[in-house]
Order: sequence, then structure tokens, then C-alpha cells
Amino acid sequence: MDGLNEKNILLLHPLGYQVEAAKRDISRKANIMPPLGLASIAAYLDQAGFNSSILDCYAHPDADACFVQLLRELRPALLGISVTTASIHDGVRMAGLAKAELPELKVAVGGPHVSALKEKVLEFSALLDYAVIGEGEQTLLELAQLGGAVPERVEGVVWRRGDGSIANNGYRTTALVLDELPFPAYEKLAGYPDAYKLPIFNYPKAPNSSCISSRGCPYSCSYCDRSVFRRTFRYNSADYLYRHLAYLKDRFGIRHINFYDDQFTFHRGRVEEFCRLMIERPLGMTFNCAVRAEHVDRELLQLMKAAGCWMVSLGIESGDEELLSQHRQNANLDLLAETIRTIKSCGIRTKGLLMMGLPGENEASIRRSMEYVYSLPIDDFNLAKFTPFPGSPIYENIRELGSFDEDWPKMDCMHFQFVPHGMDKERLEQLFIEFYKNHFRRHRVLWGYLTMLWKSPDSWRRFLASAGQFIRFAVSNKRYGG
Ligand code: SF4
Repeated sequence: MDGLNEKNILLLHPLGYQVEAAKRDISRKANIMPPLGLASIAAYLDQAGFNSSILDCYAHPDADACFVQLLRELRPALLGISVTTASIHDGVRMAGLAKAELPELKVAVGGPHVSALKEKVLEFSALLDYAVIGEGEQTLLELAQLGGAVPERVEGVVWRRGDGSIANNGYRTTALVLDELPFPAYEKLAGYPDAYKLPIFNYPKAPNSSCISSRGCPYSCSYCDRSVFRRTFRYNSADYLYRHLAYLKDRFGIRHINFYDDQFTFHRGRVEEFCRLMIERPLGMTFNCAVRAEHVDRELLQLMKAAGCWMVSLGIESGDEELLSQHRQNANLDLLAETIRTIKSCGIRTKGLLMMGLPGENEASIRRSMEYVYSLPIDDFNLAKFTPFPGSPIYENIRELGSFDEDWPKMDCMHFQFVPHGMDKERLEQLFIEFYKNHFRRHRVLWGYLTMLWKSPDSWRRFLASAGQFIRFAVSNKRYGG
């Protein structure tokens, strides 16, 4: 590792597609989320005496030149790349750029796709030295401490032996205590917080940010990849969480938080305590979170509202109970509808998260979903195109359930790469557009968006700045519109 600086670690979040497409990418206009996992790893490495840097190409797309410049300046001994199924090709391309510049540099990749595919990731590209499985903080630190030596004893890593064979050291045997982690190194994200955007109409005030206060989910929905955190649920205490928000407010002026937790309210006691802290010592901040219907009730929602809860998202997935029961536990649409009404009656906005094209889906089940969603007092919804990600339970036998074009760069929930038996792709696309169009045609919904003029003026400013693109997306449903 001659000439490399073993104290310098570069962490990279690739764009995932070609730079020219970034300006036309409607999903970037609508939502740019900070790479919180990398920011947490960076803080952890620095706490142990390393000097980490982060390059987030999603927030700053034309980043190749900047990347090469950073490699020349820092001469890092280790490059950590966070990838998804859709971005691994771009991650490998950037690993190639890095090795062309610094041939001795070691490249580690991590993220859900990597945890799901393990050895296959190193087989995918010879440019990758390590695949980090599970949570990255400790494993990346131990790899950095090795300075390129053989990671025989490092848990949580898949690596290449000298003879070219691949070794898998398995998941780490002990989990991090989340309250012992330093706050993520947000300051290492160029332009934070202004370079990052929550989805339009999903927040009242700017600047805002996402934040994670727990890891994992004990459920096992068929479409959900749990390879990183597996079926555990660990969380920050209410006190840590309150201090985290106070830090974001004081240091960066953040006024609204989107908790990116899978199950924010799974541990009721800590949410109650957090809410009481927010009420007793107000920070002047609001927040959004995602919940399952089983883990909220009126009493808790009223407390959350008093603490500043602005919007709650619920995974609905489908309005066809029979289809739903094939894919998740407690498929109870009446309970979901009742919970949504309760959330609304507590004065909190609601957002439904749906999916189209699950195995078993047909036109009748899609129409039932439309009917169900339109019958609910939800303010907003997100309809994803079902994508069978490696690591999800359903991925194992997905080819028996329909046709699957496993083209990784397109596996971003915005393409129908899977078409269930009995459907065709074109019809799915038509129904997808119809689902959204009918939603936006309803007076109640339009009025709701109009009220955002005063409830979320920054959203309207962003919407108007790219109105042409949003409207083209609404009629064409193409992520990279003209
Ligand atoms: S979809 Fe939600 S509830 Fe289901 S396993 Fe994933 S995180 Fe848990």
C-alpha cells in the first residue's frame, strides 16, 4: 500500500445511472435523501481516529472529476461504496476509475444488494475486494485498521483469498448498541441540508432532513429484503433521539424531520417518552414517520400530534385482502382503514404506500386497490412498481410466478421488471397511470394539494420550478422524461 494514506477513507454513494439522465430524472426532482448509512459510518470511523470523506453522486451528479481529484488529494487506502441493486453497475464503474488512479486501493461494497447476494457480488466484479454484509460501521472500521492485510478474522465480510477463491466470514455475532453511536457526520455531505429534499408535499417547512432512529423490522413481508438488519429491532432511546434532533436544529437549522425507520412506533414506550420530551422542551420541529396499523392507536397518535407529528405513512400495498394475505402478516384492510381515519381525526396527515404488480395481481385486484384507496381519507399516496429484489423471500421462486427481466439498473421500483402471470406489461402501465390520474381528479384531493400553498409553501415552489417535468411524468410515467 505504498503511497496510500491508511488513515484516509473515502465513502462513495454512486448516482446509479448516466450523468446526462440526472437532469431529466423526476425522482431526483421529487426526493433526494442523504446517504445516512455512509454518514453514520463516517462518524464511527472518525471517532476511531480515521479521516473519512463522503462523495454523494446522487446529490451532486456530475462527480467523476471530483472523485478523481479526491482520490489524488487523499490517496485513501480504502474506498467504501454503498450500492443498491440499481446502482451496483455504476458503483463498479467508479471502482474501476479508482483502481486506475490508485491500483493498490482496496474497495469495499455494502448495502442491501450486497448483503443479499454475498459471494455473488465479488463474482460479479473482480474490481471489488470486500463485500460487507450486515451493518457497516464495525466491519469497515476493522477493514480500515487492517490496512489491506488479510481479513481472516473480520466478521461481516466476504473477501478474496490469495488463490482467488472467495471466503465468507458470516454476519457479525454482536450487534451495535445504537445509543453508543456518534450522530451521523451530516457535515461531510456537501451542501447539507439544502442539497437534500424530502418528497414534495411531504413536509411543512425547510430546511428538513431524514433521520434514522431504529434499525430493523421483525415482520417478514414477501417483497421486503431484510438482509442487512435481518429480523431484529434495535432503537435509539428517547433521550438520544431528542438530543439528535436538538443537534440537527442547533447545528443545521433543521425544522422538520422525516424518520426513515421501518417501524417508528414498534416500541411504544420510547415513542411516548420521546413525545413527552418534545412537548416539555419544544424544539420547534415537526416530524413524519412510518408505522404499521397494529402499532398505533388514538392515545398514542394524540400524543404524537402534540409532539409535532405532521404526517404518518402506512404500508397498504394492495386493497385486495386475499392478495395481501399472500404477501404479508395481518392483512386486515378494515384495521388499516380504521387506523387511517383515526390518524386523520387526530389532525395528522396520512400517506398510503402501495405497490402494483405483485405476484397474483390481476386487473380486478388493481381495481379493488383503486376503490379502497379512493374510499380512504388519505392525503397522499405513493404507488411503487413491484420489484423482486434479491434477498426478499419472494425472489427465491419469482420466476415461477410470472415473467421477470432481471435487469439490475432498471430495478428501482419505477419499472415493471416483473409481470405476474395473466397480466401484460402494457396493461400494467396503463392501470398505473389511471390509478394516479383518478386520484388527482378528485376534488377533495385537489383541495388538499391547494392547502399546501400555505401548509408547505416550499413544496409548491419546488413543484412550480419543475412543473413541466412533473406533468410529463404524470401522463407518460417515465422516470427519465424529456
Ligand atoms: S415491508 Fe415493512 S413491515 Fe414488512 S418486513 Fe419490510 S419493513 Fe417490515
